[in-house]
Amino acid sequence: MTPYDAPFAQPAPLRSTAGSALTDGLGRKVTYLRLSVTDRCDLRCVYCMAEHMRFLPKAEVLTLEELNRLASVFIDLGVRKVRLTGGEPLMRKGILDLLEYLSGHLASGALDEITLTTNGTQLAKFAPDLARLGLKRINVSMDTLKPDLFRRLTRGGDLTVVQAGIEAARAAGLAVKINAVALARDNRAEIPALIQWSHARGLDITLIETMPMGEIDEDRTDQFLSLAEVRRDLDSFWTLRDLPLNTGGPARYVAVAQTGGRIGFITPMTHNFCEGCNRVRLTCTGTLHTCLGQEDATDLRAVLRGGGSDADVAAAIATGIATKPKGHDFRIDRGAAPSVSRHMSTTGG
Ligand code: SAM
Ligand code: SF4
Repeated sequence: MTPYDAPFAQPAPLRSTAGSALTDGLGRKVTYLRLSVTDRCDLRCVYCMAEHMRFLPKAEVLTLEELNRLASVFIDLGVRKVRLTGGEPLMRKGILDLLEYLSGHLASGALDEITLTTNGTQLAKFAPDLARLGLKRINVSMDTLKPDLFRRLTRGGDLTVVQAGIEAARAAGLAVKINAVALARDNRAEIPALIQWSHARGLDITLIETMPMGEIDEDRTDQFLSLAEVRRDLDSFWTLRDLPLNTGGPARYVAVAQTGGRIGFITPMTHNFCEGCNRVRLTCTGTLHTCLGQEDATDLRAVLRGGGSDADVAAAIATGIATKPKGHDFRIDRGAAPSVSRHMSTTGG
């Protein structure tokens, strides 16, 4: 067993910094942490990763204890919601140990919600434990209902396994939201069917524009599909009603009269909502990114491994957040380098 995989002891209680809420230079309050627990994944989605990815050496990746310690400092500073992501979070060994500790913050009232974004391949195994540990809802990524296309898009994934995982999550009492990346060539015609599939099961679905993050093997201009166009398509045969629902995230929601369900649109390329952004991201190497679409970074691992106290970590977090960029500047131009060099699997979607 490597230190990376080892179970960990309960960390010492934090020196309380409560009250020093995290507010950036533009007055935006940060209450939401997306925590990438691994850069590894059992799939290789074409828009997310190159086929032959080089993953991080384990020594660079935070141990579960370190992840827990950093998350606890964020929570102590006023973060109310944590989403585990990756890579594939359920591929991280010991993930339930980490969730067990984080769920203590739910019990204490320090945290409102723990949630997860997953590709669903491990859900059949983990769903009951996720529910037991206090998760109420999760996001599952599924871009197509066609097994062959799913295999190609994920470079080898089995759609039936993911759909069985979704059923297991529902059976465990978890609310499931489907995430689907809109791809001009591959799933544009299928988007209404994906929506119907989700709504027939009482699931919300969120559509996502592809973002230019990291080198992949395809040219993103070929696959980019504006959700403004998708919305026009849907408007031509369904009645869509804008909902005031604001989750503090970048999605804007509509209700579909004919299906009775909801669709979220995440449109970083055609319309961003950075002015209301309440989130920051922490990679599995302990790098704080205060904007998904910018290169700004604060190395919290160096503070941790340099023997820094929780107060030192808190100070580094506050300094990083003070300069949170106003917004991202994603552009997809043919042949151009990605706007951000990190892959989505590094930052955590
Ligand atoms: N492995 C998990 C999953 O697939 O749900 C969690 C990590 S994944 C990076 C999080 C989300 O980011 C997924 O819904 C995925 O479809 C999305 N994603 C990955 N690369 C993207 C890109 N370049 N543009 C837009 N969305 C992307
Ligand atoms: Fe893995 Fe998620 Fe990226 Fe697909 S989108 S390769 S499942 S991390």
